[in-house]
Amino acid sequence: MSLLWFTWRSLLQTVVIICAGLIGPGLFAAPPTDTCFAVSRSVIVPDRSDLQCSGKPRSYSSRVLWLRVPIAPALSQDASLAIQSTRFERLDVYLEYRNGIRKAGSVGRGAYGSNWQVGGQIAFDTDVDNQASAAWLRIEGLQSYDLLELRMVSQPAAQRQFQLTAFTIGAALALLGIAALFNFGLALGLRQSFFLWHGGWAATVMIWGLVWSQIGLTIIPEMAGTTSNRLATILACLAILLASLATAAALRQATPKRARRLLVALGAVVFALGTVSGLPAANIGRFAIVLGIGTLSCVALATACIAKAWKDGHVEGRYLAISWAIPMATLAITQIVDLGGVLWGGGDRIVMLFASALQVICLTGFAAARLGSLRVERDVAIETGLRMVELAERDPMTGLLNRRGFLARCSEDFGGLVKVPFGLLVIDLDRFKLVNDEFGHQTGDEVLIAISRKLQTFEARYACHVGRLGGEEFVVGVSGLADEDLFRLGEEVKSELAQCNFDAIAPALRITTSIGIAQGIADGPFDTLYRQADDALYAAKHAGRNRVIIADISSARHQEITTLRVSGIDRVHM
Ligand code: GH3
Ligand code: MG
Ligand code: MG
Repeated sequence: MSLLWFTWRSLLQTVVIICAGLIGPGLFAAPPTDTCFAVSRSVIVPDRSDLQCSGKPRSYSSRVLWLRVPIAPALSQDASLAIQSTRFERLDVYLEYRNGIRKAGSVGRGAYGSNWQVGGQIAFDTDVDNQASAAWLRIEGLQSYDLLELRMVSQPAAQRQFQLTAFTIGAALALLGIAALFNFGLALGLRQSFFLWHGGWAATVMIWGLVWSQIGLTIIPEMAGTTSNRLATILACLAILLASLATAAALRQATPKRARRLLVALGAVVFALGTVSGLPAANIGRFAIVLGIGTLSCVALATACIAKAWKDGHVEGRYLAISWAIPMATLAITQIVDLGGVLWGGGDRIVMLFASALQVICLTGFAAARLGSLRVERDVAIETGLRMVELAERDPMTGLLNRRGFLARCSEDFGGLVKVPFGLLVIDLDRFKLVNDEFGHQTGDEVLIAISRKLQTFEARYACHVGRLGGEEFVVGVSGLADEDLFRLGEEVKSELAQCNFDAIAPALRITTSIGIAQGIADGPFDTLYRQADDALYAAKHAGRNRVIIADISSARHQEITTLRVSGIDRVHM
């Protein structure tokens, strides 16, 4: 029970922290503790006796909230009142000097004038030659007292801090911008939705940072005040939706569809609520709790999906967990250590911007690495596939092409070349049975391998492919040779095989071959061509073996045959 409560409380705290980080200035931040207040409609500075110095003001949003912030003696001559939140309609600041109270300036929605500081704060300086004891603030249309963040620092320190804040925010925004562009580039190139949503998240956080830091006011000054605060809320909720989409896309293979859909739906609800709460008429305070619950559900579901994916051994789960742990841990740290004042008034939100940038960079890196390893796996799979195809087309003993491989290669390399002659040589070893009988089957195998090696050398010399159709029968498919040239190739094969020396394995063995040749086209019906070559081979065997016979398929070539016969080539009529 206590564990459950602890978990629930931690989760709730996390969500409140997220809201504090995302929706606007820290929910727990407030004016300095010794600040006194009065709620009135007065336009003049109220009497000190009318102020209340304990508790919190109420019903101020429709009226005027007066605050008196004391200035420490050490700062009395060069104090700067720095205000970070701008969720109000109008602010007039008066400074209380020894000789009376004087107006220091005023800012209103869309008009921050010279009080606006680069880095997104508003500052009012005390006179240097006069000792100030307190600042009076008259605030109209304040949205939330709890969201009001004030600091009193020395003027040089304030200037330094504002510049550092601007520089730091700029660096974080630049990181986010680069990461967003990189992700969009990957999304475009790889057509992967994860990179699109993740880039969207980075871009939204960057725009949120621009709005929140009010750097954007240099472009659109009218946005100053509640407009930019409301826009920041909408952007923060859009960021939650995009983060949900990115997480769902990353876990596509690791999480059930229903859980992913629910996650995206929750993200959409948070975004819708955020948009409504950001509308000019809406009261942000009323939406805070609903937004908190929506965000809580989103975070809880995303965490459960990530944890389950990790547990199931999906690497995406680990990557997401590590990457998201960065901003989550940062959020937790900002709650334990008060960074609001430390980091030049930008505080925890600057740290959060950097944590988000780091998260984006980390996750992008992980995703890119994962993509790289997937590519390597894919290349290996393709290579293995090709290797298997290659093996399926080869005779395991000799490594020569088998019937299937031989046919595929011949029609691939020589097919379609109708005008180019194609010749098929069927080569059968003479009386090979005797080799087995005399030297044993093992030696017979070795002889067949040696013969194969020799035949393979023809592939380098001619446009041909060599195969073993089975037993001691080989084939050569050759392109570009016809008639006498083809016959001469047959003779060359016969004589080179005859010269093979097998002394190492079968002393004194000499192999003779009978070769039948047919002519046709490479991707024509192989069976017909083979039958003709086989008939020619049969004729060669019958004629006493150790010879080459070329089949003649066309009677139109009769004349030619006679000529060839005269020149000593044996031909048979089929
Ligand atoms: P010919 O072709 O000249 O008529 O005589 P042959 O003895 O070669 O004829 P046949 O086709 O009858 O015999 C082929 C022999 O080749 C039978 C078998 O012992 C041998 N042979 C077939 N395949 C292999 C093999 O893979 N390894 C070995 N060692 N011998 C094989
Ligand atoms: Mg034989
Ligand atoms: Mg045979």
